[in-house]
Order: sequence, then C-alpha cells, then structure tokens
Amino acid sequence: VEQSRNREKSAAGAVVEVAPDIWRIALPTPWPVGPVNAYLIDDDPLTLIDTGAWDEPTVVALEAGLRTCGYAVADLERIVLSHQHIDHWGLATHLAQRSGAEICALAELAPWLAAYPDSLAREDHFADDLLERHGADPAVSSAGVYRGDADYGAALHVTRPLDDGDALAFANRRLTVLHRPGHSPSDTVFCDLERGVMIGADHVMAKPSVPILSPPLSGPDGARRPRALTDYRASLGATRHMDLELILPGHGEVVSAPGAVIADRLAGYDRMTERVQAAVQREPHTAIEIAVESRRRVNIESAFYVLCDTLGYLDRLIDAGTVVEVQSGRFSRFARA
Ligand SMILES: [Zn+2]
Repeated sequence: VEQSRNREKSAAGAVVEVAPDIWRIALPTPWPVGPVNAYLIDDDPLTLIDTGAWDEPTVVALEAGLRTCGYAVADLERIVLSHQHIDHWGLATHLAQRSGAEICALAELAPWLAAYPDSLAREDHFADDLLERHGADPAVSSAGVYRGDADYGAALHVTRPLDDGDALAFANRRLTVLHRPGHSPSDTVFCDLERGVMIGADHVMAKPSVPILSPPLSGPDGARRPRALTDYRASLGATRHMDLELILPGHGEVVSAPGAVIADRLAGYDRMTERVQAAVQREPHTAIEIAVESRRRVNIESAFYVLCDTLGYLDRLIDAGTVVEVQSGRFSRFARA
C-alpha cells in the first residue's frame, strides 16, 4: 500500500515510473533544450542512467527525485552514461565521489571524458572552424558553441568501459548495450530486449534530434567532414527493426510507438534532402546561404545546429552525385553537379 501510494503521489511531480521499476527524474538544465531525463533503475545494483549537468539546481532536483524513490545519492551503485553531451553526464564526477558508484560508458568515450574540459574545447574549435568555413557571420562564429559550458562538468574516470553488444546485468533484468552514433559519435542506448524497452537518450525522442557534427572520438580529425546524418540514418534503421514497445528518451515524454516515430523521422530527412537539393543552385553558395534558402527562418543562436543539419543533407546529395562542393582556400560552397 505504501509503495503504490508513493508511486501515485510522485506521478504528479518531476518523478514518474515510466516502466516497471524505472523512474524518470526530470532535471533542470541552464540551456534552451530544457530539462534532461535521468532514469533510476530500482534493481540490484541501484543504477542511474545519465545524471544531468553539474550545477546546484540539478543537485537539488536529483536529491529530491531520489528521495521520492526512497534513496539518497550515497545509495547509487552504478552510473551509466549515454553520450558525451554535458547536459547528460556533467554531474557524474560529483555523484561518483559521493556514492562510490561504478561509472559505465562506451569505451571510445572514456578518453574523451578523462580529457575533459580539453575534449570540449576541441569540439568548440571544430564548431567555430566549421561555421567559418561555411559562411556563418563572424559574430556568430566568435560567440562559440560550447564556451562557458565547461564548468558544468569535470574530468571523469570510467571504471567500466562498455562495448557494443555488452550486457549490464541486474537481479531482475538485463540491459543490452548498443552503440547508435549519429546525434553524437558516442550515442549509446540500453535495451531490455525481453520487455521491449530501450533507454534511448537522444537517439530517438518525440521531437527530432540534430545529428551534431563533432570531431571523431578516436584517431586524427582527418580531412573528411564527419558524416553524422549518414551515421544517424543507419542507427535509426537498426533501431527500427527491433521489437520495441517503448523508448525512454533523454528529453521529453516516452516514445510509445517507436517504429512509427522512426519511419516518420526518416521520411522527414528524405523530404528535407529534396528541399535542400532544390535550394542548391548552378552558382556555388555557402551552406549557410543554402540553409536560409531551404528553411522559413534560421535562428542565429542555433546557427551551428542548422549548419550541421544542412551539411548532412548536402553530404547526402554529394554522395548521390547531384551536388558538388567547391573549395576556395578555407571556404566551401556548394553547387548543382
Ligand atoms: Zn545530446
């Protein structure tokens, strides 16, 4: 009785049981993306998937959320991270210190987390360079993308590196680890295949998520631009063929018809690819000019995300042979093939 009353009461607040013994704790972030979802798996070991960023409102909200579920930070035994974006993992270092929980993340992500904040600074340079190369207003480029965000996290030691296909075992369930790059190079999802539940972070959400371009996790930056949209479409294709009932996303509400949402998303990319093709002219134009041409409006603050999106479609068209990239010095323009 006590337990069911607890569950009912908490459903009205920021803490909701979204699947058997999986509690969603919505945590505030200081960014336009809004709250981020952490998931508490009330099983043995007691596990938190994603942590939110490292700031005071997040700590307060997480402590309150855990309390609603009958726990404290010190009770956490395992912390699992979904990807490199700071809104999902920034608090992990602090929580590991307070709880002694093991830290699980994709093996390729471990050096990135250990090298924080240099790894974030490298992403910032990469983003600035991309903006400049593709015709963004210098005022936007110099505003930086992640600058100022470094304080929301701290270098983190991954105690248990994960590989695609690994399993996280619990007393009452098993989560299969799947690498699903696209939104970021490190996107990792955790699937209860028996129950058809995926903890999907930003891989599949009710709202579309942007395939954000960032430096490769390992090896040199390379001459070729990363193909985030290509990776993302392949990852969506792989998830689409799984027998899933629910996806628990990193932001927003539960995705209850994953197959239909993914089919819709892929169709949306096809439509946008056609719109971008139509916006490409005989004379070369910058990716930013093409972005403006192919959309109703471009928000200056999200110029980097719009650029990532547009480059994704342009690269798809280059691969299809209908668009060419014209380099002059450091700058790139695109024209009909
Ligand atoms: Zn993300």
